[in-house]
Amino acid sequence: AASSSDDVVLVTGGSGLVGSALRYLIETQSTGSPFGRRNNERWVFLSSDECDLRDIDATRGLMRKYGPKRVIHLAARVGGLFANMSSQHTFLRDNCLMNDSVLQASHELGVEKVVSCLSTCVFPDKVTYPLTEDKIHLGPPHPSNFGYSHAKRLIDVQNHAYHDQFDKMFTSVIPTNVFGPGDNYDLEAAHVIPGLIHKCYLAKKNNTPFTVSGSGKPLRQFIYSRDLAKLFMWVLREYDEIDPVILSVGEEDEVSIREVADAIVQAMEFTGPVKYDTSKADGQYRKPASNAKLVRLMNKTGYATFRFTPFEQALQESVQWFLDNHDKGA
Ligand code: GDP
Repeated sequence: AASSSDDVVLVTGGSGLVGSALRYLIETQSTGSPFGRRNNERWVFLSSDECDLRDIDATRGLMRKYGPKRVIHLAARVGGLFANMSSQHTFLRDNCLMNDSVLQASHELGVEKVVSCLSTCVFPDKVTYPLTEDKIHLGPPHPSNFGYSHAKRLIDVQNHAYHDQFDKMFTSVIPTNVFGPGDNYDLEAAHVIPGLIHKCYLAKKNNTPFTVSGSGKPLRQFIYSRDLAKLFMWVLREYDEIDPVILSVGEEDEVSIREVADAIVQAMEFTGPVKYDTSKADGQYRKPASNAKLVRLMNKTGYATFRFTPFEQALQESVQWFLDNHDKGA
């Protein structure tokens, strides 16, 4: 049980991509550094097998056990395009139940701050770019994952309702495409970076072409999970709005899928042919998000020296993690 002097930070989804990056930060940064643990803090990283967060009674029990002062809510049912399309209701309901349990149990047990994680898919399908925080509710999300998107949007509505009625400091963040160590490298379900790392690894091993899906032309803003973890730390300590903040590299730092593939080829030292399978979907050409609010507020709160890790270096570290862990069953 927690002692009363502990300032407990509870992280749901603690074993996922972002959760493991937060754990890495806590383990590697000194307690004096801006992104490190404070001396009186105790960080608890939950994994999905410790508690079914869809069950509010189980979630209340968990909150009583750890007595968190602050919660970082990362747990979610997530999946790729095809998983979402075939199970809209499961994605809607599981996420609604989890979010309701975590927020309501936090409210009942006096948690001071909750930071929940949304996704850029919450934005309307038809919207003017760049994406900014004030555009979330301006129209329906893309139909391919409307269940997941509506559940995530609802977190923002819940946060406002908890604030309005109970004066709670429950907020949320919206990261763009995240990648990094501990990602899901499953060939079918993976996002583009882990998917292509795995494919390039197999192409090298089997002496076959490295085949990228689509034209290679789409652009994305990728954020390294270990940078994102630092931004979560900033949000936890400094961000005091109910409305979400977009956590992303700048619009000038969009990267094409071709550049991603080239960087993976470099990092893997792959020398065979690279092919683009244009029979596969490109998806959205681009969906630029503005990080102006993030930059303005970080500067204002004394974090002006923060720098994103250069893309090639972050990719190199992710490739290295894959190579170190793949044979162990990752
Ligand atoms: P999202 O489109 O931003 O939701 O995220 P993804 O990570 O799935 O990125 C998709 C983009 O990468 C699309 O333009 C795909 O055509 C391209 N892509 C190329 N190869 C792959 C691959 O092996 N897996 C995935 N997921 N996307 C790929």
